[in-house]
Amino acid sequence: MYYPEPISNLIDGFSRLPGIGPKTAQRLAFHVLGMKEDDVMDLAKALVNAKRHLHYCSVCQNITDIDPCRICSDQSRRRDVICVVQDPKDVVAMERTREYGGLYHVLHGAISPIEGVGPDQIRIAELLRRLQDPEVECDEIIMATNPNIEGEATSMYLSRLLKPVGIKVTRIAHGLPVGGDLEYADEVTLSKALEGRREL
Ligand SMILES: [Zn+2]
Repeated sequence: MYYPEPISNLIDGFSRLPGIGPKTAQRLAFHVLGMKEDDVMDLAKALVNAKRHLHYCSVCQNITDIDPCRICSDQSRRRDVICVVQDPKDVVAMERTREYGGLYHVLHGAISPIEGVGPDQIRIAELLRRLQDPEVECDEIIMATNPNIEGEATSMYLSRLLKPVGIKVTRIAHGLPVGGDLEYADEVTLSKALEGRREL
């Protein structure tokens, strides 16, 4: 179908986002056209600001606008435990449980031999460096990677690396659906899984 170029550019932009097919992209584009100009400007500014002002926390690798991030610099949190997750959205999911008061480390992915993602392509080196710092008092790592093949492989890999260094590595229990994503787990399931973690 023929659209004036500004609209087809907009549809194009939306369709490059994950989970957005051509029909949804078209619907979103026309929705934007129907919005008030101020609201469109706010949306555009939010997009640009998010990109411009967010970076990775130098400690936990989570997305943040200040460094260290709010969680890392929160002195009321436990510093003896670090929860390792694949994705910044998983930190939000864990925080929603209100059961966990420790620190995090975000890997930004998981080891996946099938997709050619090795340990060097996710932020494992950053975690090891962090643990070597004498000021870091961590004595337990909770592996909260996704309950699928990649998440398990990553969890086993880290456990094999960290055990010899004398750090206890635990894995959250799976009341969580296998093959699912941590970010979609409800709070109860996730906090049960956290409670039932076992040593690896
Ligand atoms: Zn941080």
